[in-house]
Amino acid sequence: MTALEERYVMRTYKRAPVEFVLGEGVTLYDRDGEAYLDFLAGISVCNTGHCNPRVVEAVRQQATRLFHTSNLFYTEPGVRLAERLGESFQPGARAYLCNSGAEANEAAIKLARKHRRGGEIVVLEEAFHGRTMGALSATPQRAKQEPFEPLVPGFVVVSRDDPGALAAAVSERTAAVMIEPVQGECGVWPISDQMLVAAREACDRAGALLVFDEIQCGMGRTGTLWAFERTGVRPDVFTVAKALASGLPIGACVAGGEAAQVLTAGDHGTTFGAGPLVASAALATLDVLDDDALHARVCVLGDRLRAGLERMRGEGRLADVRARGLMVGVDLPSERAGEAARVVNDALDARIVLNATGPDTVRMLPPLIISEEHVDRVLAFMDEAL
Ligand code: PLP
Repeated sequence: MTALEERYVMRTYKRAPVEFVLGEGVTLYDRDGEAYLDFLAGISVCNTGHCNPRVVEAVRQQATRLFHTSNLFYTEPGVRLAERLGESFQPGARAYLCNSGAEANEAAIKLARKHRRGGEIVVLEEAFHGRTMGALSATPQRAKQEPFEPLVPGFVVVSRDDPGALAAAVSERTAAVMIEPVQGECGVWPISDQMLVAAREACDRAGALLVFDEIQCGMGRTGTLWAFERTGVRPDVFTVAKALASGLPIGACVAGGEAAQVLTAGDHGTTFGAGPLVASAALATLDVLDDDALHARVCVLGDRLRAGLERMRGEGRLADVRARGLMVGVDLPSERAGEAARVVNDALDARIVLNATGPDTVRMLPPLIISEEHVDRVLAFMDEAL
């Protein structure tokens, strides 16, 4: 597999030396039949667990009937999905369906630009909104952007922890402020309520749109269906992808109020968007994840994980613990600087899948169906690894 990859696959990914062939609930199996506890869930995608029976059944049923017809015709699952997403937000909301997170953000960027022609889009430092040119331009990380310049113009970057600076950056030239309520790729950084309130107030004052990127932190991950539900701040537009179809490619840009009317026929589109197969998977996924009892479990399990990690921080073995529900990032202390990859490798040896977001930061994004026992196994591993 390694030789084939080296020969034929564009070298855009660094992979761990393991080949998974099967997934079941919280467990992944490699080619030798070894079982791994998955604490990454395909980077916040397999929130329902691998091959969730309800999702599998929905896909199986739809797969025997119709894969695709194009957006020139009606098919029910995509329309029902838009209904479900809109109803989860507010009356009058509409959804545009596409195939990935970056595409969902492209739709939000185009929507914002049409809402205020030529307007700037304010983003936060360290944000990650995707790799396509618009989404990349909204992702102020030098190494990711620099090889691909010139970027799309009109993006303004502000500190993620300075409500005054954010307010000052928003004016009648601003089309939108775009924020991940919990930043994921840069190591799990929850954005403070003060920042979110400042963004909401500034957008209201300037007539700009507040866009939340819920691609990693949405779909129940933080203990509510949408992360913004816990903050009291509501966006005008939000984007979702990753976990929405449990692992089939999908994205959505959901808009309420006037923002729901901005994009009209001919403005935007994609061949596969709202296709019946993925939309069926998404409807079944929402049946599983839009569930108060599950959200309560996410909070209980997240608290347990955080408490265990906080104990290690109290003992000086971790420098920082940042958590919202089952979205967790931990920083290693200075004497272990650069060892995040080592911890992740040790985890793989111990048959646990984790992820390093940087040299010093380990991220945990388990399926939302884990149990106390799984949390305790990961805590025991971290105890040993540190
Ligand atoms: N936005 C956020 C917050 C993400 O975490 C990601 C992916 O990690 C994206 C956007 C891009 O999504 P995709 O990889 O599906 O294009």
